[in-house]
Amino acid sequence: MIKVQFAAGWPRWKQWKHPLSLELARAGLEAELSRKHPPGQVDYVVYAPNPDMSDFTAYTRARAVLGLWAGVEDIVPNATLTQPLTRMVDSGLREGMVEWVTGHVLRHHLGMDAYVVNPERAWQPFAPPLARNRPVTILGLGELGAACAEALRALNFPVTGWSRRARTLPGVRCLSGEVGLSEALEDAEILVLLLPLTAQTENLLDADRLALLPQGAVVLNPGRGALIDDDALLAALDEGRVGHATLDVFRTEPLPDDHPFWRHPRVTVSPHIASETRPETAAKVIAENIRRCEAGEPLLHVVDRKAGY
Ligand code: NDP
Repeated sequence: MIKVQFAAGWPRWKQWKHPLSLELARAGLEAELSRKHPPGQVDYVVYAPNPDMSDFTAYTRARAVLGLWAGVEDIVPNATLTQPLTRMVDSGLREGMVEWVTGHVLRHHLGMDAYVVNPERAWQPFAPPLARNRPVTILGLGELGAACAEALRALNFPVTGWSRRARTLPGVRCLSGEVGLSEALEDAEILVLLLPLTAQTENLLDADRLALLPQGAVVLNPGRGALIDDDALLAALDEGRVGHATLDVFRTEPLPDDHPFWRHPRVTVSPHIASETRPETAAKVIAENIRRCEAGEPLLHVVDRKAGY
């Protein structure tokens, strides 16, 4: 009997217990899923950062730690974790992120706010350009960035993407490197951040790089808060160089009450909801990885801990 420890926190247990048990059984695994196996007997750890679990030392026979989240910046530096670590890549996360990004791109592209809040009932006809004339840049062309690029291309937006290694995506101008980043920012009327948080990406969007954006550009950040230098963004918003920032993620979450982002007229705050890991689809990914490991096949979505994502 394979022992699977659910170490992702008590509140998630209620959501995950049933779908995960079901998918383990569907994968043909004789597995016992629990929150309370003795650590030394555990074969697989299903994990999301939570206050009850940060030391993996006692999980001496665990063959893998299977993360429930796409972002792993809180797990990667954990020196007690010596097993292979996987992160979540699944259709639910992709779909959710495509919907959030597409929705917010269209909101800003179409200037919807002017009509949604119009207490004076002002008749102010304003025809937005067509999408084909609104360049969008996505920093990060991984699982989520590439899916968003494809969806925005399908709506006719000219899409530029930037990644660490050179990539090729149909219909997308793909750039990499420092020069590529400058080019990607220079015509980004709408900029989407879908990078992981690593030592290389922290504060990537600083004052110098914000200054490369076209006047009035919109910044959407569903990636990680620390990708942006907050003070530099606030200064750019105050000066109107950045027209609006829609932020889903922050250095400190929940965003503290006294943070200027809450009050800034050019900032929209959403509470880290751009894309949730949904148990119904994600449980299949966990079960498939356990099946693969049991069958001696390579794990999917293994984190490169040196690269940090
Ligand atoms: P991936 O690992 O699949 O993609 C990451 C992308 O970023 C890759 O294209 C990678 O380049 C690029 N990248 C990484 N480091 C650098 C660098 N130093 N310079 C340039 N490009 C770099 O991640 P996902 O697409 O699955 O997820 C992206 C992030 O989205 C997550 O890390 C997480 O922080 C965030 N997220 C937020 C959610 C929310 O609800 N707000 C939900 C889910 C995820 P390369 O292609 O060369 O590897």
